[in-house]
Amino acid sequence: MTKSYFLNIKRSLLLLCALPLLSLADTPSSAVTYLGNEALLFSNGDQKVLFDPFFHNDYGSYQLVPDEIRDAIFSNEAPYNDINLIVISHAHGDHFEAQDLVDYLGKHKQVTLLAPDQAIDQVTELDSSLTNQLTSLELDYGDAPIVTNLEGIEVHSVRIPHAGWPSRKEISNLVHRVTLNGDNTIIHMGDADPNDEHFAPYVDHWKKQDSDVAFPPYWFFISEQGPAILRDRINANESIGVHVPLEVPEPLLLSGARYFYQTGQQVELK
Ligand SMILES: [Zn+2]
Repeated sequence: MTKSYFLNIKRSLLLLCALPLLSLADTPSSAVTYLGNEALLFSNGDQKVLFDPFFHNDYGSYQLVPDEIRDAIFSNEAPYNDINLIVISHAHGDHFEAQDLVDYLGKHKQVTLLAPDQAIDQVTELDSSLTNQLTSLELDYGDAPIVTNLEGIEVHSVRIPHAGWPSRKEISNLVHRVTLNGDNTIIHMGDADPNDEHFAPYVDHWKKQDSDVAFPPYWFFISEQGPAILRDRINANESIGVHVPLEVPEPLLLSGARYFYQTGQQVELK
């Protein structure tokens, strides 16, 4: 029996127990839907947040947001209608595209963009008329978390370095904890580095609020310290991986971790 046969079996078993695909007819009132790479729609009743929704670079291996979904977001079609907030983790090409945000925000004046200053600066450079829709987070490594309140949406943001630390340390990667309607809370981790020395100093921040689900980049599941950070540090009831390559890495397949890998997958929040 060849190794690839074994992997195929393993893959189909995973497909069987895969997370459900989005069905618009029965979209639960509180849910997180996977759009591609680290792009998520988090909704609770009338409140909706998009994370890292616009980007064009797949680096040859990641899931882009399909054109139909992108078009639906731009034309305010359900379930991407009446978005309250767009949250950006960091200004890298597989998470963020300034021109798209300029176009979207210009068209949807009720939407706020919350992003690291590096991303906001790129948006402002292209269009200086959007400033009242922009919330710029200026955070250095080790800074206290910033709390933002936008009409009942609460966001706690902390700077956790990009994977590969200490290289790329100049990139402001933010881990955002978002609560909608005081009801459901999730953590979006961007491309965080899976090293507890970045997370341990924020013990009070993690304790302050438990989360329904954390969405770490998949490498947390297959790194040395990542699993313990997810289990013991960040106070999340479960974790679902994102940023999963189209060709799912073998260690991830074998890890038993839950992860999004197909656009439309959804998790309902109770
Ligand atoms: Zn990145």
